[in-house]
Amino acid sequence: MHVFSNIISRGHERIAFHHDPVTGLRAMIALHSTKLGNALGGTRRWYYETEDDALYDVLRLSQGMTYKCAAAGLPMGGGKSVIMMPKPGVPATEAEARAMGRFVDTFSGVYIAAEDVGVNTQFVDWMALETRHVMGGEKVSVGGDPSPYTAQGVVNAMKAALAHNGRKVDFRGLTIAIQGVGNVGTNIVRIVSEQGAKCVVADINPDNVARCVKQYGAKDVAPTEILTVKCDILSPCALGGVIDGQLANQLNTKMVVPGANNVLDDPDEDAVILKSLGVTYVPDFVANAGGVIQLAGLYLGYDDRKLKELIANIEHTSLEVLKATASARSAYEAAVAVAEQRIAEGSTSKSRQAVHV
Ligand code: NAD
Repeated sequence: MHVFSNIISRGHERIAFHHDPVTGLRAMIALHSTKLGNALGGTRRWYYETEDDALYDVLRLSQGMTYKCAAAGLPMGGGKSVIMMPKPGVPATEAEARAMGRFVDTFSGVYIAAEDVGVNTQFVDWMALETRHVMGGEKVSVGGDPSPYTAQGVVNAMKAALAHNGRKVDFRGLTIAIQGVGNVGTNIVRIVSEQGAKCVVADINPDNVARCVKQYGAKDVAPTEILTVKCDILSPCALGGVIDGQLANQLNTKMVVPGANNVLDDPDEDAVILKSLGVTYVPDFVANAGGVIQLAGLYLGYDDRKLKELIANIEHTSLEVLKATASARSAYEAAVAVAEQRIAEGSTSKSRQAVHV
């Protein structure tokens, strides 16, 4: 992959590569934009088959964070980091996390790390032993696991999708299909089940499926079936790139509201196909902003009332995007326009610029 042509076309400010000779850590931090403020974005610990795969992931995830924070009304920029595991299944160590913490610290607070796939609160706390610029730990840094807040935001976006479709905003009797019942997916199952929905779930980890069946009466289907199962709302909550043009044509739902990042294989094209098929799609970076609102909000010193208000606002922003989709190429394009408008408005304010701390 050509690094400069990619960061120029996506508009990145900076990308840093790091190797720690003691632990063997290989990691990248991508700072997409600090126009609205310092950039908060999780650290993904993943096995990538190639360096290009890791670079592609960190570039698109960090760009997504810029849009996510802007659309959520946060005075924060967008950044993300990835750790390249040497092979699948290698357990995380304190030494590796601390090496990552030292790498994060070289950004002097312009980039703030947090958890993402493969990184838990313990890992965050280990990173926090080396840097103040990390959120989402339990003992050393603050914030804890953001996934219940992410899930609440996704449910708020589902309410907007229902209203946009002229449906009653009431989960009783609805069938909600969830792909991936890890942290975010299970919390969505919990919230909508408590409000009377029936959930259909699938996961490659049978323990996660069993928990949803036992605790919330969910129905399980095979991972190969979940995306095409008949349902009122489909919520992909595993990994990215799961919906492409072909899959879009096989959907058995009129609403897609994701918890996972980058669920569309090619957002520019696949969101147009969803629109042409009459499928209401709430773009991922709008729907799944609850977790970053919680962690960035705590970083910014917001109180509980303000945090709840911003997470509740995901419903209004989703509705705004869905309404604007009528005159846009797609919901994705409408959501990017909303985010870019907020960046243009916010970046003129002096209080919203990145600062080294
Ligand atoms: P997680 O690792 O806890 O859960 C993901 C689940 O998906 C796991 O249970 C895994 O077994 C399952 N899975 C993986 N591949 C699958 C497949 N092919 N079919 C079915 N299940 C599969 O992660 P999470 O924290 O719940 O995050 C899920 C997604 O949401 C990720 O894409 C993440 O980037 C995104 N996200 C998470 C948060 C958050 O607050 N945790 C915030 C925003 C976005």
